[in-house]
Amino acid sequence: MPASPPTPILLWLRNDLRLHDHEPLLAALATHASVIPVYCVDPRHFVADDALAVPKTGPFRARFLLESLADLRASCRALGGDLVVRVGEPEVVLPALARELGATAMHFHAEVTSEELAVEQAVTRALATIGVRCRAYAGHTLVHRDDLPFDVRELPEVFTRFRNRVERDVPIREALPAPATLPSVPCDAGALPTLAALGLQDPEPDPRTRFTFVGGERAGLERLSAWMWREDRLRTYKQTRNGLLSPNDSSRFSAWLAFGCLSPRRIHDEVRRYERTRVRNEDTHWLVVELLWRDYFRFVAETAGPRLFAAGGVQGLRFPWRTLRDRGVREELARWTSGTTGFPLVDAAMRELTATGFMSNRARQNVASFLARVLGIDWRLGAAWFESWLLDYDVSSNWGNWMYVAGVGNDARGFRFFNVYKQAQDYDPDAAFIRHWLPALAALPPHLAHRPEQASPRVDHPAPMVDMFRAARESEQRYLRAVGASPTDAPRSPAPPAPGSRRGGSSRR
Ligand SMILES: Cc1cc2nc3c(=O)[nH]c(=O)nc-3n(C[C@H](O)[C@H](O)[C@H](O)COP(=O)(O)OP(=O)(O)OC[C@H]3O[C@@H](n4cnc5c(N)ncnc54)[C@H](O)[C@@H]3O)c2cc1C
Repeated sequence: MPASPPTPILLWLRNDLRLHDHEPLLAALATHASVIPVYCVDPRHFVADDALAVPKTGPFRARFLLESLADLRASCRALGGDLVVRVGEPEVVLPALARELGATAMHFHAEVTSEELAVEQAVTRALATIGVRCRAYAGHTLVHRDDLPFDVRELPEVFTRFRNRVERDVPIREALPAPATLPSVPCDAGALPTLAALGLQDPEPDPRTRFTFVGGERAGLERLSAWMWREDRLRTYKQTRNGLLSPNDSSRFSAWLAFGCLSPRRIHDEVRRYERTRVRNEDTHWLVVELLWRDYFRFVAETAGPRLFAAGGVQGLRFPWRTLRDRGVREELARWTSGTTGFPLVDAAMRELTATGFMSNRARQNVASFLARVLGIDWRLGAAWFESWLLDYDVSSNWGNWMYVAGVGNDARGFRFFNVYKQAQDYDPDAAFIRHWLPALAALPPHLAHRPEQASPRVDHPAPMVDMFRAARESEQRYLRAVGASPTDAPRSPAPPAPGSRRGGSSRR
């Protein structure tokens, strides 16, 4: 009797677009089933944000996604398999595909944030009704969720406590190997959509771009090798990581990490190898600390539930954020988004973001603090702007960092804001970053590039839109009143919303 063909198993891919260190893939292959990797390009990820009139996924990230899918498909094909791509909502596409192929199971990496969870629940419900078993795996983090020395709901409120505990008690697992072969896929793999089909245009290359991100596992591994080994940048990472202009000052791994083209454990393995063969110092350790920040925000997001997207953050602080309904906010927000606030560090960074899809961590902290702390504008408008433009957008890292800078996250210690003048002097002393992105200031000496309103004759750059110290003092007064009036025991982890419900929609701001 001829052997019956192996039962198909779907492998639902989301932010895990790689073959290395992929537990659900290896587990599915171990069953000797015909494993069918599927990616659904979800149209909800491309709809316009009502308030900001920008797509939820902007052109830089969308292009990176398509490049990553093309790369993964090529890698799968080289091993005898394929990557199936469909445009549509996963809860519609996956049950239809399972039925068409007679799949009996589906493996996938679980997500933790509300919209993603809602989709996941809709998918698993729909598959359950047709008898398809779903198996979810924890992934995405350096520290495996199952290895945490505490229940995730008992996550320490302060990063340092989390880090100390994890560094003391948790051995980091090694990255899993990529499979050597893949089974063939018994259906049409489907064409990748174009940017135009997603309602986007290819972003114009800006000649000032110093670093070009290319999506995909191979490009991510190549960046790892180039930055860490060939350029040998890990040995000085802690000292350079706050740099604003040079692409090698920090790793730039973030976009590949966000899409899962690079696994943090693979980076960690390389750090350990580097430490064994080249040097082990504070700088090499610091990259691991930064990856732990990433983990921390992911676990914070899991415990916060919808509060990650609430104006009062995890603290439930009743801060009277200025919203689009308030007088002047629309204009102020437009000056922030267009990089015309009159504060050169903020303006240079905001222009870099829309020209390249990237902004350094130091600059992100400054522009976020300026919007939320100095102008007192609802931080979620800033987070939504970043969501659209960032190449490395990651739900937990973005909303978690914004919440933190806005003072409504864990570990909020009173009212603090970044003095963008001082930050510019400290981190851009020769004004190279400012002059790179603000051509009108290119010819000014550094002290005037930092304060162009003092230049004579006048230069073509807007005057500061506010008196920073006065605006921050007013914001502080409102903050102190709010702290006095806020609940201390906000509820934790309410149920996720229905799929398609939008976090931070204009009605919630
Ligand atoms: C307001 C704001 C929004 C942010 N939004 C995002 C986002 O959407 N996606 C994102 O990946 N990072 C975000 N970050 C964190 C950080 O700015 C970027 O990870 C970093 O700038 C990426 O550059 P890099 O890869 O060269 O970082 P490196 O300095 O080389 O760090 C190595 C890796 O560690 C992780 N990491 C470093 N700092 C942080 C941090 N503060 N929080 C979480 N992870 C960190 C990243 O994965 C990064 O790739 C945000 C920070 C702020 C202040």
